[in-house]
Amino acid sequence: MGDTQLSTKAQRTDVLDLLKQFSRIGATSDGGVSRLAASREDGEIRDFLCAWFKQNDFTVRVDRTGNIFGILQLAENGDGSAFYCGSHLDSQPNGGRFDGALGVASACVAALAIRTLCIAGKIDPAFDQFVVACWTGEEGSRFQPSLIGSAAFTDRISFDDALSSCDCEGLTLGEALTSINYLGKDTPPKPHHYFELHIEQSSGLQDANTPVGIVTSSWGALKCRISIVGRSDHTGPTPMEDRRDALLAASHLIIRANEISKAASEPLYSSVGRIEVLPNSPNTIAESASLWVEFRSPDPSSLRNAQDELEQAMCDIANRTGCELEAVRTTKRAVVEFDANAVQTVRDCWDAANISYLKMKTIAGHDAVNLQSVCPSTLMFVPSNDGISHSPEEFTSDEDIASGFEGMLHALSALISRPDQSQVCGGDFA
Ligand SMILES: [Zn+2]
Repeated sequence: MGDTQLSTKAQRTDVLDLLKQFSRIGATSDGGVSRLAASREDGEIRDFLCAWFKQNDFTVRVDRTGNIFGILQLAENGDGSAFYCGSHLDSQPNGGRFDGALGVASACVAALAIRTLCIAGKIDPAFDQFVVACWTGEEGSRFQPSLIGSAAFTDRISFDDALSSCDCEGLTLGEALTSINYLGKDTPPKPHHYFELHIEQSSGLQDANTPVGIVTSSWGALKCRISIVGRSDHTGPTPMEDRRDALLAASHLIIRANEISKAASEPLYSSVGRIEVLPNSPNTIAESASLWVEFRSPDPSSLRNAQDELEQAMCDIANRTGCELEAVRTTKRAVVEFDANAVQTVRDCWDAANISYLKMKTIAGHDAVNLQSVCPSTLMFVPSNDGISHSPEEFTSDEDIASGFEGMLHALSALISRPDQSQVCGGDFA
């Protein structure tokens, strides 16, 4: 960090301390965290965050899908314009300490740092309010679709659809949020810009020994829940030709999804991460199976082809196994380009501050992708050790967190400041 340093040592320590306190909630014995959306642990960390907001003079708002907003006044321009910054505090089952939580911790401390810079006259803010956002159910492990809170906030799904999403026990998101007291009814300020810091979840930054990345676009995704219906029967006497084995059909489809990816000409990642089998008994041929299949690609036509090929495979497997296969839920996430002006602003300020960076794409979905549909949205990455995430092994060093926070403050200062007229109008065009 050079002579253009914006963050103080105390602020960088505050980020680490806040992250450490988040990590204690839902901590697992192997160093990870389990904080499923709207679980007891999620309720506990939400209470902690709201208490932190109140201690630091933020106004707290909770909307109808439990998204939490901590609002700090920066200026009195009178237009109520709001700069949003945040991430999520829910995790995968036995997930990592950094995914989402680092973005929220950094946003909390950055809000205070930015207000200090405004009061000192170092930033002339173009926004009235700084809003720290903590989105509900980003991970999609308990309630689908993933990014459910920001999807409802940006009208990509209705609040009613989000709240009626069920977990495996049949509990709805609305009921789960009510049980932890986070089914709010506030309407937060309209966002005019959104900024998110997140761990990379790949090893690109570490491999290039570079502290920060600016994300220019996201990969698209196709997520399908496939229902397979066969017929239960005895695994012993039933003649092979009479069997309609739902688990066998599921196995064919899992292999086929992998083959579709391998045969694609453009990058196309796929997996089946979850399977449910009924009656799930060793001596009964599986009567039904549900598969969660997903494809991801930077190329929209590859995703369209993948969907066509998956549908073809379902017909073939139905003929082969005598089972019925049906896509009961399909979610598509388009390839999204982040706001190009904001990307350029961040690159310019990092260049000016001598901060080295990579331009990147994100394969994983982030709330910033949803926010881009309603306002300019900016996503930055910090390194993930060996690219591991959704695991207790997930790790980002204190040094990388400090460098990331410094890069974040530069980016926020540049994005929040009024455009400098002398820079815009000056120069030698003559
Ligand atoms: Zn995340």
